[in-house]
Amino acid sequence: MAREILVVGGGPSGLVAATEAALAGAEVTLVEEDKEVGSPDHCAGLVSSEGLQKILGGYEGVLLSRIKRVRVFSPKGNAYNINTSDEKAVVIDREKFDRELMKRAEAAGVEISTGTLYKPSMGFKVLINAEGTKSRVARYIGMEVPRSIPAAQMDLEVKNFEDDVVEIYTGGWAPGFFAWTVPRKDHLRVGLATSMGLPKEFLSRFVEKNENFASKCVIKVLRELYGKVVIGGPLKSTVKGNVVAVGDAGGFAKPTTGGGVVLGCLTAKLAGIAAAGAIKGATLLEFERKWKAHYGKDFERMRLAARIFRNIKDEELERAMDEAHRFGLLERLTVYDMDLQGGVIARVARSRLARYAVLPLLRSLFEG
Ligand SMILES: Cc1cc2nc3c(=O)[nH]c(=O)nc-3n(C[C@H](O)[C@H](O)[C@H](O)COP(=O)(O)OP(=O)(O)OC[C@H]3O[C@@H](n4cnc5c(N)ncnc54)[C@H](O)[C@@H]3O)c2cc1C
Repeated sequence: MAREILVVGGGPSGLVAATEAALAGAEVTLVEEDKEVGSPDHCAGLVSSEGLQKILGGYEGVLLSRIKRVRVFSPKGNAYNINTSDEKAVVIDREKFDRELMKRAEAAGVEISTGTLYKPSMGFKVLINAEGTKSRVARYIGMEVPRSIPAAQMDLEVKNFEDDVVEIYTGGWAPGFFAWTVPRKDHLRVGLATSMGLPKEFLSRFVEKNENFASKCVIKVLRELYGKVVIGGPLKSTVKGNVVAVGDAGGFAKPTTGGGVVLGCLTAKLAGIAAAGAIKGATLLEFERKWKAHYGKDFERMRLAARIFRNIKDEELERAMDEAHRFGLLERLTVYDMDLQGGVIARVARSRLARYAVLPLLRSLFEG
């Protein structure tokens, strides 16, 4: 018998979409190929406090750290500190976060089957594709695959540990992207993504050779993690027939950072509601209309800003960061939304900094 709604993937986006569809009255089954929801975890876990509040309400059982400062290193290694005294960002334990979402999905009536790989023979009236970056379902049904680049992370025990600081390292350490360190209660998760070589090799080089990072004094490598970061923005078509793509599978991660937990879940809510509506005869395209109306402009601006960042030369970035610091722009970044970055991007585009952006943009347009 065909299920009303079949959700493929028990990550946050699939779980949220499934919950919303079930709460709207649909009969929902979710299949997850791993034995347990939330594991293995491949995420740094940095999210906005506001986004976390929207997804889990006031529930704080998933918190690892509260971030008070972001330290950004220029390509030459100059440090710029951005204080976020209002704790705009937090680090979450993804395993606990995903399991909490699973509990809520089950309470809403979703039937969850772990250790179950999606098979084309599974029947459904509507399919919600929440497979992340694996892209097997997308290929099977002939949907576009999200643009992603490979990433590597290490959990490190360090001597000089700051439990409320996130660091970003720009320049050649992770060509075309950046490296990060995120505090996780008692250890650091350090990682980077790049499409210009093996991230594992770039990460080893970063940990061994970066002079600013060296001040942390690594004691031990606890584990290594690998994954893919989605950077291309939402697919051209996130709905095809009776299939809707959500989360990373739909490209709903921030093109600037690859962070996809908050926007993935918020857009997946819209998909769940639209899927339940489609069972009652409405069009599934309602999902596309809604996410574009709520988030379309921000995704477009983030995509453009990311394209400029990926094409900017180190010396242009160095000058732009120096200038942003001199005019106090870096420090003011904290007043902006961490998830919907369209506002801050528009602000930068109107500032003197834009001249550093125009050159790389033109270059990227002409060089393809
Ligand atoms: C290195 C790295 C660091 C990151 N750091 C951050 C961060 O700090 N903050 C942030 O917001 N985002 C971060 N992200 C992105 C974030 O992890 C993703 O955006 C988020 O996990 C997407 O959720 P999802 O539910 O769409 O997909 P996923 O979390 O990937 O879940 C997809 C699920 O589908 C299952 N699945 C796949 N195929 C099938 C199948 N055929 N049948 C059954 N099950 C299947 C998988 O096993 C998986 O459990 C990071 C990503 C990486 C790679």
